[in-house]
Amino acid sequence: MSRQLGDSHRRFLQTMMTVGIVDEPGARALYQHCCETHNTQCAPDKLDDFIDAINSKLQPMFMQIRKGMSEDSGQQYYALVNMAETDITRMSSDYADNELELFRKTMDLIVNAENGKASSTDILNSTDSMTTKKLKKSETELLLKRLVHDKWLNEKQGEYTLSTRCIIEMEPHIRTMYQDQVKLCHICHSIAFQCQICENPTCGIKIHNPCVARYFKGRPEPRCPACDDFWPHEIPEVRRHHSQSRR
Ligand SMILES: [Zn+2]
Ligand SMILES: [Zn+2]
Repeated sequence: MSRQLGDSHRRFLQTMMTVGIVDEPGARALYQHCCETHNTQCAPDKLDDFIDAINSKLQPMFMQIRKGMSEDSGQQYYALVNMAETDITRMSSDYADNELELFRKTMDLIVNAENGKASSTDILNSTDSMTTKKLKKSETELLLKRLVHDKWLNEKQGEYTLSTRCIIEMEPHIRTMYQDQVKLCHICHSIAFQCQICENPTCGIKIHNPCVARYFKGRPEPRCPACDDFWPHEIPEVRRHHSQSRR
């Protein structure tokens, strides 16, 4: 399918190349801004078509603007991702071999944790089993800061989670590498790390916290959508996403 790209598409893509990831209100505002700048028609419900047109031209370069959800807020994001390399070797221009090994170990910890988090203590301890040059404590701490800065990890009170960008970009890799460990959210069918789990041992489905909030909103008694057992967890509030006016 070949669609012509205009200046508005090109401007949108250039911004995505600079920022890497943008939330949905930000993408809408950028779309509108690009159309206005180049005097082209902007239909608010056509953002995904606009991005599809860009993606049709990016495909031969193994790149794509892909959509995914923040596990924290439930907000949708758009990320420009590289599809040429499906695993973390794409990070090898920015990180040394032993740094990549520690990132892999951190991913292992996060994927295998029920709550989708790895503590800084567990990450520091995992340096003991490194096969490449072992990172010192201070080096590990600096590396974790860099991984947060480069938007691969998020950190809250000493606990690390995979960032939205990392999940969107690494999803194919994670699904292949961790086939047996990784579970999909029962509601949105994306891979789920930070989530609630059905306590019925024969069921055990996972649901992202924001998907829990949306699914159970207004239901008087929360029951598992798969097995109908009582859902014993605290139901989070649905977070409202105010569209930011930024211009
Ligand atoms: Zn979900
Ligand atoms: Zn269940």
